[in-house]
Amino acid sequence: MRRKLLLGNWKMNKTPSQAIEFAKASKDLGKLARSNKVDMGVCVPYIDLVPVKKIIKNSLIVGAENCHYEDHGAFTGEVSIPMLKEIGINWVIIGHSERRTYDGETSEKCNKKILALLKNGMVPVYCCGESLETYNEGKTKEFVKEQIIAGFKDVAYEDASKVVIAYEPIWAIGTGKNASEEIAEDICKFIRTTIKSLYDVKVANKVRILYGGSVKPASVKGYLSQKDVDGALVGGASLEVESYKELLTSYID
Ligand code: PEP
Repeated sequence: MRRKLLLGNWKMNKTPSQAIEFAKASKDLGKLARSNKVDMGVCVPYIDLVPVKKIIKNSLIVGAENCHYEDHGAFTGEVSIPMLKEIGINWVIIGHSERRTYDGETSEKCNKKILALLKNGMVPVYCCGESLETYNEGKTKEFVKEQIIAGFKDVAYEDASKVVIAYEPIWAIGTGKNASEEIAEDICKFIRTTIKSLYDVKVANKVRILYGGSVKPASVKGYLSQKDVDGALVGGASLEVESYKELLTSYID
């Protein structure tokens, strides 16, 4: 049985003082999620990690939005996995479409990061998803399959199900135009089948696959009741405790 997962992505939002305000107000959120057997958390800007983790502790998952694949070295402006580990961060979003679009992040680079995170016992949340153009051309599956194959290159059998996959059609992120439940299920199921072909049915049944793209309280339950959708990666609706709590209660009620 795969546990449901709601993971927030703050992107480049919240100064440390704003992040602290969220963290202080989020105590009940963690309790509510746990008592309903939902894993819940937020991935936040680097500068917010220390203050947020200090307050939230393990009540919610606190993750980073990126990392470098090398442990240390001449990579100005980057943050390494040992740095994250030392402050108690175990979850990292990898390959978000905004990083792929604006920072030239490739699936090959994501693969290096995934391998490095797994070596350190951490959880990569690997994002994949197509542009509107690719969607309109009817090429979503071949595009996403390539991203999955490249991202999982050399990932060992025993590690594969530790990766969380997030299917995020780019045309649905931050646009308010969410994919239908049917599209989300179709592609998440397709990703599971791809994992089965790379590993086996055991790994495919264990790996968690999230949908992301304008998930709101009104739509969350519909997505999470799909057989192959194990949760959501949430941008806008995770920025305020109230809206994030509403997302959770809309799912559990
Ligand atoms: C995201 O940031 O990954 C995302 C899905 O954002 P939003 O929920 O705002 O579309």
